[in-house]
Amino acid sequence: MAAKYPVTIGGICMGGERPVVIAGPCSVESTEQVIAIAQAAKAAGATVLRGGIFKPRTDPRDFQGLGLEGLSALAAAREATGLPIVTEVMDIRHLEACAAVVDMLQIGSRNMYNYALLQAAGAMRKPVLLKRGFSATLREWMLAADYIARGGSEDIVFCERGIRSFETYTRNTLDITAIPIVKRETGRPVIIDPSHGTGVRWLVPIMAKAGLAAGADGVMVEAAIEPDAAVSDAFQTIDMAMLREIVRCIEP
Ligand code: PEP
Ligand code: MN
Repeated sequence: MAAKYPVTIGGICMGGERPVVIAGPCSVESTEQVIAIAQAAKAAGATVLRGGIFKPRTDPRDFQGLGLEGLSALAAAREATGLPIVTEVMDIRHLEACAAVVDMLQIGSRNMYNYALLQAAGAMRKPVLLKRGFSATLREWMLAADYIARGGSEDIVFCERGIRSFETYTRNTLDITAIPIVKRETGRPVIIDPSHGTGVRWLVPIMAKAGLAAGADGVMVEAAIEPDAAVSDAFQTIDMAMLREIVRCIEP
């Protein structure tokens, strides 16, 4: 069902009649890498490109992303494919530079409680993708969106990405229930990220379909041509055949 407050980025409507598929690498590693993935993802049927240039890594010694230098790589991938781009911003100081280039700003799970960042992101007057904090209640998550709206943007899309539970087989426990509840309570689009939501590659297409069955307005997945070669989150990155499998289930 269409959302009451759909959000359009680069001509792609989130919360419309047809779910969107946002795909791309966990991290932008190079211009060549992101262009190649964008082209393959587009051929597989994805309609929006994702790719992190600021990575919230648990271990500070791990690859932290290309930073602002990665913006030109994302812009080149959009130029090559026409796919609008979404990327995570972790720091208020980077908001303006990112907002000048990308089509949608992503607030990551770890920053869902960063009210200063939420409000400043809203002030960019750009669409914002708000991921659920991994320990956030639905109420806290929905109120976090109100900080973005207070900042000045009503173009908000929620992304369920799993919450921390006692289970260890999966990286997080994907809360499918959140989809119909947050859609109903806010009228805003809700998408699902089964990549971080499971942390298990083979589960990603299955849980993407489960999310769509529960009424998600789209899915966001980490996808690559050679998933095993990804610098970050390789274990949950799907290949193009798996991406096509997800796209097939939203084809009219
Ligand atoms: C991501 O989508 O790149 C990411 C880091 O996800 P999350 O904030 O949900 O952990
Ligand atoms: Mn990742």
